[in-house]
Amino acid sequence: MKDELIKRFTTYVKIDTQSNEDSQTCPSTPGQWDLLNLLVDELKEIGMEEVTIDENGYVFATLPANTNKQVPTIGFLAHVDTATDFTGKNVKPQIVENYDGGDVILNKELGIVLSPEAFPSLKNYKGQTLITTDGTTLLGADDKAGVAEIMTAMNYLIQHPEIKHGKIRVALTPDEEIGRGPHKFNVDRFGAKYAYTMDGGPLGELQYESFNAAAAKITINGNNIHPGSAKGKMVNSIKIGMELNQQLPVREAPEYTEGYEGFYHLLSFHGDVEKTELYYIIRDHDRQKFEAKKENLVKIVDQLRQKYGEDTIGLKLEDQYYNMREKIEPVKEVFENAKEAMERLDITPVIEPIRGGTDGSQLSYMGLPTPNIFAGGENMHGKYEFVSIETMMKATEVIVEIAKIFEEKAK
Ligand SMILES: [Zn+2]
Repeated sequence: MKDELIKRFTTYVKIDTQSNEDSQTCPSTPGQWDLLNLLVDELKEIGMEEVTIDENGYVFATLPANTNKQVPTIGFLAHVDTATDFTGKNVKPQIVENYDGGDVILNKELGIVLSPEAFPSLKNYKGQTLITTDGTTLLGADDKAGVAEIMTAMNYLIQHPEIKHGKIRVALTPDEEIGRGPHKFNVDRFGAKYAYTMDGGPLGELQYESFNAAAAKITINGNNIHPGSAKGKMVNSIKIGMELNQQLPVREAPEYTEGYEGFYHLLSFHGDVEKTELYYIIRDHDRQKFEAKKENLVKIVDQLRQKYGEDTIGLKLEDQYYNMREKIEPVKEVFENAKEAMERLDITPVIEPIRGGTDGSQLSYMGLPTPNIFAGGENMHGKYEFVSIETMMKATEVIVEIAKIFEEKAK
């Protein structure tokens, strides 16, 4: 299992699959097609059935049931694209065997070092096999670790027919990092009752709570007049933007919040006297608090409209995704079985709310309850990204164990 994971993972990361927000196609970049097509070949090679790739690049495959019990169909998902934050071109994975707990020199020439002083979590990996970057790219463990784990787990189940399981569906998908992963995901055609994204971080992560999310674009129209003769006439849109932002609760911002605390995040503020645009995202795990935050913003905009004129301020407020907990709690077995799988493998489940969203946040509302499981990556989206092969092996075992548990509990 170890060699297979290393081989698959190091092959996948060498293919540049960075997604691109500015592209209108799906997948957003051609490199994703390269990996998706390779995975189609590999799925066929290991003996998966119903291997398909649709016009948007979504790869689906089936591992048929090998039991007569009525087991619900479950799915495993991973995304092939890498983050937009840092380059994923020419990734040169470095293998560090039997990591000694000290500094890892990523790049001698450039003096780039992965150090436990800067990244204390490294100490958890002493004695393990790490895969790192060469300091010039990201690694892409997010989420090619997940892809490699699902592939290896399916191959393992095929090689071990004595392990009984129901029908398993696999989906390898594009464009998660730009939030479009589920947009063209055909939930009906996938045909699973539950699914799991293998897209979390360190060992034990099990997540079924995400933010509720909205975005607000505010446009302020000013009136620019020569400053020498502006009295009573000039309307400075920048200043109205500042006034608006000042009325939001100062402490409800990303830099002051953690755990279950929500926020308003001012992402961008561009303006001149004539016109100013502010772009906010609003996040909260609690649906009521989320709605209250949106109402508060609407109220502030209304008050400023009364003060400066109805047409002065435009507000476009849109929900982006919701907390998947609402959809997962009523079908607790999807979550409980994952937890039990970890406990059977002596992994302590780390159940914490995600301060973000996953493909599962959207899929859960499309009718496919989808919690998120660790894939192993650390320091994701940058040059210090690394993954431990031992964690990837555990994630692979969790997939196998979940399949077993669903079969055992079925009649
Ligand atoms: Zn990811």
